[in-house]
Amino acid sequence: SLGICKCYECFGGVDCSQVIDNCVIDLDHGDPTMFEEFWFRNAANTITVILGYQRMSYFAQSKHVWFMENELEVQIRELHRVVGNAVTEGRHIVVGTGSTQLFQATLYALTSSDQSKPTNIVSAAPFYSSYPAVTDYLRSALFKWAGDAVEYNLGAEHEEPYIEMVCSPNNPDGRIQHAVVNGTGHVVHDLAYYWPHYTPITGAADHAIMLFTLSKSTGHAGTRIGWAILKDERVAKKMTKFLELNTIGVSHDSQVRATQVIKAVIEGYTSSEPQSGSPQTVAQHSDNNKLFHFGNSVMHYRWKRLREALNGSSAFSIPGFQPSYCTFFQKDIDQTPAFAWLRCKKTADCQAFLKERRIITRSGRHFGAGAEFVRLSMLERNQKFEMLVDRLARVEASRTPD
Ligand code: PMP
Repeated sequence: SLGICKCYECFGGVDCSQVIDNCVIDLDHGDPTMFEEFWFRNAANTITVILGYQRMSYFAQSKHVWFMENELEVQIRELHRVVGNAVTEGRHIVVGTGSTQLFQATLYALTSSDQSKPTNIVSAAPFYSSYPAVTDYLRSALFKWAGDAVEYNLGAEHEEPYIEMVCSPNNPDGRIQHAVVNGTGHVVHDLAYYWPHYTPITGAADHAIMLFTLSKSTGHAGTRIGWAILKDERVAKKMTKFLELNTIGVSHDSQVRATQVIKAVIEGYTSSEPQSGSPQTVAQHSDNNKLFHFGNSVMHYRWKRLREALNGSSAFSIPGFQPSYCTFFQKDIDQTPAFAWLRCKKTADCQAFLKERRIITRSGRHFGAGAEFVRLSMLERNQKFEMLVDRLARVEASRTPD
């Protein structure tokens, strides 16, 4: 190289192969770079070519949503059919610039400019840190963040209009969740992590409003594609209106790329006999084109590594999970969440404690929980994950015996 290549963090040298031992490991974001390895092996199936004159129009000549590429909708429906994680028959699909944009579109669609007070937005703590941040950043008169759904349910306010966000499996702690507010408000199911990489698929989800994202399913976070599956056509139309006002639709280039990537995932499962082997025992390289086998086997290995490193730890604890039957793999599998919800047993500020050890995490405070918790991403590249586990294990080894 001419020295112009930029190495990933923690790597240096002319060919970026040198590990920088005491570098800072940033695990604050859930950046799904773990999936690069799979797509590197499947690069040929995912080449997207868009010629200069193609896809120039604002419009996609879609049957349903004017900016949505027909073929993307077809592939999204097929993906859910193959995985069995959501009902799409008779449902409306709206594509967005990541599910982050669709979250905002649902808030817009489920509230009304006629209402005298902003609608309360709640979610059971610990909740995804973007829910409060995104809800309140424009100080809307339509909606406002009202905190932990469990507390909200105990108060009298839940007689008022509200929207409950249910993230399942949950970001940050991996729990399977259900709505907790006893009322007649709207419930939005954020199913970003309801994929066989992270959790047993226990049935086809069939809620009124469900959000999914390419970021956590195929790992293409940079493509910025998410989709909503909706029962009510009026909600679909109002969400589409939001996307029109907000960004005049969604990048067609991104939609084309997402279509190609989803097609490649589906082909991995439909071009050969169904795979009956265990996702955990199948060697990582024998399922070259089966994305969920790859994802589940990497996540299973990582959780095993992390649990071994923290086994008997007096410094840290992580949640335990029961395995359940997965209809996709047709056997019991473990929960292997995208994040580790780590608790420092002896330190009040876990984020600061880990920062001193050059591990950047997100404090529990951002999720409506205590500062003794942090969230750390399990979706980084292999080397970074291995460095994390080694460092956590060393915290253990270097502590003074009591
Ligand atoms: N919902 C949850 C629960 C998430 O964790 C994330 C990503 N961190 C999103 C939504 C947003 O995903 P996207 O990249 O599609 O905007």
